[in-house]
Amino acid sequence: MALELPIYMDNNATTPLDPRVLDAMMPYLTSKYGNAASRSHTFGWEAEDAVSKARKQVAKLIGASPKEIIWTSGSTEGCNLAIKGVAEMYGPRKEDGSCRGHIITTSYEHKAVLDPCKRLQREGFDVTFIDPHEDGVITAAQVAEAIREDTILVTIMWANNEIGTINEVDEIGKLCKEKGILFHTDATQAVGKIPIDVERDGVDLLCGSGHKIYGPKGVGFLYVRRRKPRVRLSPMIDGGGHERGMRSGTLNVPGIVGMGESCELAGKEMNADAERLSKLRDRLIDGVLSQLDMAVLNGDKEKRLPQTANISFPYVEGESLMMAMKDIAVSSGSACTSASLEPSYVLKSLGLGDELAHSSIRFGLSRWSTEEEVDYTVEKVVSAVNHLLEMSPLYDMVKEGIDLSTVEWGGH
Ligand SMILES: *Cc1c(COP(=O)(O)O)cnc(C)c1O
Repeated sequence: MALELPIYMDNNATTPLDPRVLDAMMPYLTSKYGNAASRSHTFGWEAEDAVSKARKQVAKLIGASPKEIIWTSGSTEGCNLAIKGVAEMYGPRKEDGSCRGHIITTSYEHKAVLDPCKRLQREGFDVTFIDPHEDGVITAAQVAEAIREDTILVTIMWANNEIGTINEVDEIGKLCKEKGILFHTDATQAVGKIPIDVERDGVDLLCGSGHKIYGPKGVGFLYVRRRKPRVRLSPMIDGGGHERGMRSGTLNVPGIVGMGESCELAGKEMNADAERLSKLRDRLIDGVLSQLDMAVLNGDKEKRLPQTANISFPYVEGESLMMAMKDIAVSSGSACTSASLEPSYVLKSLGLGDELAHSSIRFGLSRWSTEEEVDYTVEKVVSAVNHLLEMSPLYDMVKEGIDLSTVEWGGH
């Protein structure tokens, strides 16, 4: 098959919709338009049946029971509901009626977790942000050290979206069970990519999103444990009492059907996909690192998602590198904010300096990524980096044996 350009290699940002998922959704976008809450006619029953089926499909993929699945608009909502919902429900009440308690998270969570935690911090909760080890992994020992008498929630991502490393979730889950502390995990990048079992792994709350697993955008789920313990959440959205009162609003039936189908497909294809993608991922990493002496892989090589690699290219700016390979869609370690290019807080949390964080590229493969695409990418990256290095005065100095850290720069 001929190589088609441009190549999409930013699948941690979003994945294409699997055509099989679209097929499953289509009837619910056209002829089967009932409201799943309409109990009085066949249009409603048909919609409700489709939602029940999807609940089973999602539950099966993560070892949950269907009643434990709450539909959301995606992981941002799921994380908010889990974190704020627990804080409001379990934060011990003070005399003035406000709630307080201690929450443990990490400094390299997605903003969907960081921002709710920071809001709770402003409202008076104590929050501990654990930095990952240099290899990008959060260990149970780190969590054990952070736990206090008044800890009400541990929220730690299953796998990091930027570097792809996988945390010691099962050990952390076990620890939280022993201590009787609720454990939420943002599993957005892990669901459907690596095996998850909420029973085995001791997870109480877990969120996932359709558009990261070849499903539609704007739909996701939150798993809420129903026994041992029965987790209660304060809702963020009131009105109508849908989803056991935890998330009111008319259900997005086509989206939910798509979420279910994407989980069903993931269950069937995950193992084969993971095996093929980890080979492609390593082909990419090895191809780049073997041809560029100074390139470094961010995060542990083994404890990582099959679909993700993140590589730093010292003395090269990530943004310039992306410009030099415009026919490959990747993302850089700099988050474009309105005014400035901020180096990624995720890479900085690993101990990378601003320069290295600025010089990083994330490669995210998909179910449809091919060896040809990977080989083309390696070739492009290597030639673009070499070209940029030729123009880099810093790299010239390094080649001449000058230690940049000892240089006294003029100006400010
Ligand atoms: C994409 C992503 C989110 C946000 O999910 P949405 O469904 O887009 O709101 C949260 N956490 C992680 C780790 C993600 O990769």
